[in-house]
Amino acid sequence: MSLAEVTQALNDAVETACRAPGDVALIAVSKVQPDERVDAVLAEGHRLFGENKVQEAAGKWPAFRERYNGIILHLIGPLQTNKARQAMELFDVIQTLDRPKLANIFARLIGEGLDCPDLMIQVNTGAEPQKAGVLPDDADDFIAECRDLGLPIIGVMCIPPADEDPVPHFKLLKDIAERNALHEISMGMSADFEQAVACGATCVRVGSAIFGERDYG
Ligand SMILES: *Cc1c(COP(=O)(O)O)cnc(C)c1O
Repeated sequence: MSLAEVTQALNDAVETACRAPGDVALIAVSKVQPDERVDAVLAEGHRLFGENKVQEAAGKWPAFRERYNGIILHLIGPLQTNKARQAMELFDVIQTLDRPKLANIFARLIGEGLDCPDLMIQVNTGAEPQKAGVLPDDADDFIAECRDLGLPIIGVMCIPPADEDPVPHFKLLKDIAERNALHEISMGMSADFEQAVACGATCVRVGSAIFGERDYG
């Protein structure tokens, strides 16, 4: 596919779901992609991107920001506490707040005067041991705890288990968002963004369908 084709498919899914045009933001996931491909998508006018590693984002986005105005960058991968400060400086939104230790560090850095990006809580909807995220049963308490710390929590995100029907996971995340009065719901990737839109996603994270397969070689 391409940016134009994914945009079209997203618009179709939004219409099918009887949702308003513009209800769902397309985050182009540029991790591991060569700079030329990212540049081509920027040149087409796209401005919303996701990266999953702080180091990788630090190596490429400052230069893109010098050349293109209006870039909005989301962190969608796990964040180590020793990179929290750098992440706060690099990203406009951090989607992967998932533990009290990280929440406390954000609160401390805000106290030191750092601007805090908007934050989202990652929920491990499949309770997979190897995956980051708070467990669904702990989500309400963790969200309340983060709010008590004064953190700017705007939403939730999930990455369903690779080998399962994602729909129950999308519904679970939507429920958590609703009962905590959180507007932003980040779910859906190349293979399942249309289903995520039907389940209430407000942003989808699409990589390979826009840029082509990632070459980890
Ligand atoms: C890589 C990644 C994506 C995009 O995956 P595709 O299948 O290439 O669309 C979405 N979300 C997260 C958290 C990712 O790490």
